[in-house]
Amino acid sequence: MSKPSVLAIPLGGLGEFGMNMMVLRCGDDIIVIDAGLMFPEAELLGVDIVIPDTTYLKLHRHMVRAIVLTHAHEDHIGSIPYILGDLNVPIYGTRFTLAIVKKKLQEAGLLDVAKLHETAAGQHVEIGPFKIEFLHVTHSTIDCVALAIRTPVGVIIHTGDFKIDHTPVDGKPFDLHAFARYGQEGVLALFSDSTNVERPGYTPSERAVAVPLEELFRAAPRKVVVSCFSSSVHRIQQVIDIALMTGRKIGFVGRSMVDNVEIAHDLNRLRIPDGSVVRPQDLKTYDPKKLVVLASGTQAEPMSSLSRIAVDNHRLVTIEQNDTVILSARIIPGNEKAIFRMIDHLFRRQVLVYYEGGRSAPIHVSGHASQEEMKLLLNLVRPKYFVPLHGEYRQLFRHAALAQQVGAVGGEIFLLESGQVLEFTADGAFRREPVTAGRVLVDSGSLEEIEEVVIRERRHLAEDGVVVPILAIDKHTGRLEAQPEIVTRGFLPSDDGQEVLNEARKVILKTIENSTAEEKTDWGVIKEKIRVDLKRYLNKHTAKRPLILPVILEI
Ligand SMILES: [Zn+2]
Ligand SMILES: [Zn+2]
Repeated sequence: MSKPSVLAIPLGGLGEFGMNMMVLRCGDDIIVIDAGLMFPEAELLGVDIVIPDTTYLKLHRHMVRAIVLTHAHEDHIGSIPYILGDLNVPIYGTRFTLAIVKKKLQEAGLLDVAKLHETAAGQHVEIGPFKIEFLHVTHSTIDCVALAIRTPVGVIIHTGDFKIDHTPVDGKPFDLHAFARYGQEGVLALFSDSTNVERPGYTPSERAVAVPLEELFRAAPRKVVVSCFSSSVHRIQQVIDIALMTGRKIGFVGRSMVDNVEIAHDLNRLRIPDGSVVRPQDLKTYDPKKLVVLASGTQAEPMSSLSRIAVDNHRLVTIEQNDTVILSARIIPGNEKAIFRMIDHLFRRQVLVYYEGGRSAPIHVSGHASQEEMKLLLNLVRPKYFVPLHGEYRQLFRHAALAQQVGAVGGEIFLLESGQVLEFTADGAFRREPVTAGRVLVDSGSLEEIEEVVIRERRHLAEDGVVVPILAIDKHTGRLEAQPEIVTRGFLPSDDGQEVLNEARKVILKTIENSTAEEKTDWGVIKEKIRVDLKRYLNKHTAKRPLILPVILEI
């Protein structure tokens, strides 16, 4: 019998932002902590999402006992539908987390086969040699937990995402006592969230946005549109409360917003008094002085509610002079261009726009711990070993440096990147041979994996070809200057090919026709709209999935 040891194998989220996944292996038993996704950068043309490479799990599939979830954010649960089809293991999560997962599994047609186990903060679960206690932590969504995992070599604590909020909106503070209790007992290793390590001080409580939002609501001459992440249940609750307090009713638009509000409300985690909601179909006619609309689309995603509202192309919500729009979210790096373009559209319509930056009163606060909270946690837990999680390399590095400075780590601090393996034994902690890790690119319509974008493109070209719609658009008027051209390679050699292309041209014309002038001059938006519409049409009429790369010629 070999001596007990535990391998920690990060398959995603270390040295990159998103797609968090940590594997713990003890002998022939494996648990997976979180299974997140990452949204692709613009250069990954045609790819919808990115998930971790789970080759290691597939190679050891008979050992995988469970996926254990910390909370309901996409970067922690988003890859479940893609992984579960091939690796149907039990999933453990809190009530809200599982409710969000269920929705995803339902859409993927996997809900019937999924094995879901509800847990809650304070509960214990035994999975093989791992005895897990769920510890309540505060974050930007609800029902978030850290995991204290008892293994044959000691206790490993995985924080999940957290901040230390002493006055959370739902009255459930960060469970400092539980962390202190484990610290007293002795902790082998702490794995902790590094997201905000570049911020000194403390992250303000979620309640810090209440007064600034109330002031803006009271000052607003007409309707108020607030956009926040649809998973930010605390923020949504505050917007509802403040709307009612300032004599306004509330409407919800955007699929993810409506879905999440419904889920949280069904679980009794969102208080929405009777008679306080304006039905979507009544939003246009409701007295704008008495209305707050909560909309999704904080990052100016091309098809989101707020993007559409900003160019007056939303079915349910109009925007007019002196309306107020509040972006109650972080401007995620990489999205600045799209967001500021959307803000420009709003200002052009003489809308009062409030967003992060240049404001002394916060309309958004982060859900992640700043330096002082990280120090506090390190001091409470006093682990033997420390592994920074959840961040790009510089964030992991700085979290390691911070831990060094605090001096609360008894043994070594390990900077790991995805795929790098650490083994804990009775003798200490040791780096081991790395395992396969990386990014898998997925087309979300197909639940299909694509190993690399190059392979995807090659496969597309070989099997389904490439379709390049070429449009000449006047940069200033947004007018189409000529009939759209469609160039194809390896696509449609058959008889009806010409007919399909003629129809495809009509689809493009229709997309253009249904777009506003601003959308037409915003090439990110118009390209995406054309890609989506054309993809739908071609998939339906040819059963092929060609790579679609719209090209716009500036006139
Ligand atoms: Zn996260
Ligand atoms: Zn999170």
